[in-house]
Amino acid sequence: MGIRVLVSGANGRMGREVVKGILADPELELVGAVGRQSGIGQDIGVLAGREPLGLALEPDLGEAIARSGAEVVVDFTRPAVVKENLETIAKQRAHAVIGTTGITEADIPAIAALYREHGVSAVIAPNFAVGAVLLLKFAAQAARFFPQVEIIETHHDQKLDAPSGTAIKYAEAIARAAGGCTPAPTKVEKVAGVRGGELKGIKIHSLRLPGFVAHHTIIFGGLGQSLTLKHDSISRESFIPGVILAVKRVPRLNGVVYGLENLLEL
Ligand code: NAD
Repeated sequence: MGIRVLVSGANGRMGREVVKGILADPELELVGAVGRQSGIGQDIGVLAGREPLGLALEPDLGEAIARSGAEVVVDFTRPAVVKENLETIAKQRAHAVIGTTGITEADIPAIAALYREHGVSAVIAPNFAVGAVLLLKFAAQAARFFPQVEIIETHHDQKLDAPSGTAIKYAEAIARAAGGCTPAPTKVEKVAGVRGGELKGIKIHSLRLPGFVAHHTIIFGGLGQSLTLKHDSISRESFIPGVILAVKRVPRLNGVVYGLENLLEL
């Protein structure tokens, strides 16, 4: 018997990939699937493009955890519901692996207190792709030498939020490593917003176009030189090894971990 895993958002683009990843791993057992909108009552194996599993997509997360006895819940839903789901998971005393964006560093202390209160753990990661996590590490190194930096993130046109959670995490890490960043001043903005959004003194530019998955470029500028770091997730499979690693590690963690980099020995 493997770790009992339930997928929240199992009918979504990421949720279906997570279902396939869990089914392919002999150490994990898929015990439940929750979703909204379409597919309620349908077999989750069929929804993910696999053989029928005799496991139907359910609409209520709390009830599904209680019914299935899930030990770990993986959540890839929507930024608007992720905090509510985090609360439901903790109250049902399951561990959480959260890929849904919409959570920042500032939210972590309250989430950690909630999970401590219920004696469970969580891994919250805005990006489960190992390459994107390495980019975070390299960017923090570069930031010590190049405090002027801008971030460009490109995602598919169905993404609901901007900027990406990953871009926020990069800006937070770069600003921390650099000891502060200041964007180049622009006196006249002839088109409103043309210089992008700003977080911790770092300009972030969000592109939304069909044909893309998740792409991040960090461009540092210095005297007479620039340094460009880039990561591309060219398919959603790129996130699955990181998710599976988190599912296996979360029951043995003590508390809340924000960022996959904290599970890798970098
Ligand atoms: P999607 O719209 O394809 O899927 C979301 C699914 O969640 C939908 O099927 C919807 O029915 C379901 N849902 C909505 N509300 C729900 C609720 N209250 N309970 C259960 N299910 C609910 O979106 P997606 O492309 O799969 O992305 C999902 C989230 O994951 C987004 O926030 C996205 O930014 C994030 N994401 C994170 C990573 C990462 O590595 N951390 C990678 C890709 C996407």
